[in-house]
Amino acid sequence: MEKSPDIVAVMVSVSVDGPYSYRVPYGMEVQRGSIVAVPLVGRLTLGVVWGLPKDNYAHNRLKDIAQVFDTPPLSEELLRTVDWVSKYTLAAPGLVLRSVLRSTEALAPERPITAFRLTGVEPDKRTKSRDKVLDLLLDGQAWAKSAIIGEAGVSASVVEGLEKAGALARVEMAPPPIALPPDPDAAPPTLNEEQAAAMAQIREIDVNGFGVALLDGVTGGGKTEVFFEAVADTLRAGRQALVLLPEIALTSTFVERFSKRFGTKPAEWHSDMTPAQRARTWRSVLNGDVRVVLGARSALFLPFRELGLVVLDEEHDGAFKQYDGVNYHARDMAVVRARFAEARVILSSATPSVESRNNANQGRYKHVLLTSRFAEAGMPDIAPIDMREEPPEKGQWIAPKLAREVFATLDRGEQALLFLNRRGYAPLTLCKACGHQYQCPDCSAWLVEHRFRGVLMCHHCGHEQRVPKACTECGAVDSLTPIGPGIERVAEEAAERFPGARMVILSSDMGSNQQLKERFAEIERGEYDLVVGTQLVAKGHHFEKLTLVGVLDADLGLDRGDPRAAERTFQILTQVTGRAGRANRAGKAFLQTYHPDHPVMKAMVKGDREAFYKHELLAREAGGLPPFGRLAALIVSANEHDPAFAYAKQLLSVAPLAEGLKLFGPADAPISMIRGRHRVRLLAQSGKDFDLSGYVRFWLEQAPKTTGNLRVQVDIDPQSFL
Ligand code: ADP
Ligand code: ZN
Repeated sequence: MEKSPDIVAVMVSVSVDGPYSYRVPYGMEVQRGSIVAVPLVGRLTLGVVWGLPKDNYAHNRLKDIAQVFDTPPLSEELLRTVDWVSKYTLAAPGLVLRSVLRSTEALAPERPITAFRLTGVEPDKRTKSRDKVLDLLLDGQAWAKSAIIGEAGVSASVVEGLEKAGALARVEMAPPPIALPPDPDAAPPTLNEEQAAAMAQIREIDVNGFGVALLDGVTGGGKTEVFFEAVADTLRAGRQALVLLPEIALTSTFVERFSKRFGTKPAEWHSDMTPAQRARTWRSVLNGDVRVVLGARSALFLPFRELGLVVLDEEHDGAFKQYDGVNYHARDMAVVRARFAEARVILSSATPSVESRNNANQGRYKHVLLTSRFAEAGMPDIAPIDMREEPPEKGQWIAPKLAREVFATLDRGEQALLFLNRRGYAPLTLCKACGHQYQCPDCSAWLVEHRFRGVLMCHHCGHEQRVPKACTECGAVDSLTPIGPGIERVAEEAAERFPGARMVILSSDMGSNQQLKERFAEIERGEYDLVVGTQLVAKGHHFEKLTLVGVLDADLGLDRGDPRAAERTFQILTQVTGRAGRANRAGKAFLQTYHPDHPVMKAMVKGDREAFYKHELLAREAGGLPPFGRLAALIVSANEHDPAFAYAKQLLSVAPLAEGLKLFGPADAPISMIRGRHRVRLLAQSGKDFDLSGYVRFWLEQAPKTTGNLRVQVDIDPQSFL
């Protein structure tokens, strides 16, 4: 696009199908990628200059661009990514753009901060606190007010008092950068032979080119150390790097490791940051001051202009799929963006997704293996406990054999982990007197008792009610009884059976991120003997003294009508058993299961990952399931069931015929109501070379208009079938 034509197409960051035309007022300079504010139905909206307009509106019918922001334009690769994601997911391009342009605050010039320096004037009186401040400023520099307060340990009034007394002068200065440039050579590790070979393989992908490496290595094999070297290479090449993590809980450990390796912290991007921090980070990524970002999946849409590397740690993790507005999978979109940016991608995991494994098998991704743990640490021995043969006592959840192992571990002064991937006390509560089962008023789901907090809670919508004293149906007092175990109930049993053990419970609703971080640090220091936890403890942590892992319900998750159930179970079991025996101590893991012959359990027990992938890939191929076929889900929802179902039937009746395409449904969703909305599902399945997104778009164009509260949600490559 030539510089500043008269009329340009502007993509506005609202849910519309394409860019609108605007006039460029005299004297304004814009180009493709310029961030602008434009009038849209009576108010100013953020947008981006997309290019030349397609249509030729009469000049005088168009509105003027109101403002062009003083920032560099968005990169070409980011604009192309937005278009691509929109086309693929069927989300309006303006909606995808909204993942990029998040706030006007980020576009305003950086606000200066208040700082103080010495004037040389002697204050009227001296106090201990005043002396601390004056000593601190003896270096002659201007100090930010917050820095003075922090370093001198005084209150703001001391600083203000000294200013009044004329001893300090107020100055304005630029705020300190959000992150300092990391030094690629600060503290590089000495890679062992296998790690060095892995690194050499990754380096075969040009640091200035596109390519994907699947870093497929056992837990503790040094994947992080290896991809840090790729980050270093990217920095040396003058390009920016992005590391995506599936969970915020993993961030703090990661930031510490990064600081040790690179001499300074990376910039962070996740929901735990304040809007002001986010605004500054966004701007610093755009102007290139920030070189490395550590973030959640939404960081994928940050305005990098020199993106050279995207790392997805725990690439198999379901948290990389977003369901909110734009239904995208960060792993797949990272590969898309990297292709446009001519950047490298490293997908790192001990249990890669079946999709990525297939891409590696087919040679589309480089398959980089790390097969042994760093130092002497060995892989844990995994054994099943057949719940049909050796079940726990009635009313208990820990089988006798596992309990014996826990005692033995505690006797040796080592740590044990009891794992159950279910929050709360009990997944179902019923009244002994009348049989009433407590259900969410707005969802077709049981309420889960959270005993610590004394509430019944819906895990789908967050609805909460106090646990009633008397049954709300029949009025019987103290008649409510929990059915099945949640993590709190396991903890209760463990406290009774292992009374001497120092125990901690860890699940995502057990406190703030900060509190969880403290618990993790305490476990690492060996301040607990017994850890009882959900999937929160399964990932990313190194507990040196942990040598025993007991999985209380290894089958949990297997029996969902979900093509990825086996894969997910394999992944979570591998992750959690991998916690056992990290630092030159042998580890043991036990799986309590009713299905010891299931391929997942057999592969786990034999420690044979390859057997699992082989079996799973064959099963997927036979079923035409991803990665050998494509799936798209359409979820029709409405306030009433019948209109939703009727509309879904209508949709089915107008579906265009296409070769090799199969349609399933309509059927009530397994969770047939969420937040008071009834849900009906349709599923389309096609071969892998079929443009399923294009097909669904065409299909919806044939569909009758939705009226009232009817909604159709499209989910390409669905990860959940609930
Ligand atoms: P993974 O990411 O594969 O689970 P990590 O990179 O976290 O493995 O490595 C496991 C542990 O071994 C970490 O404490 C890490 O610092 C250490 N480690 C791995 N490789 C090296 C190395 N080459 N030099 C020093 N320490 C290493
Ligand atoms: Zn609910």
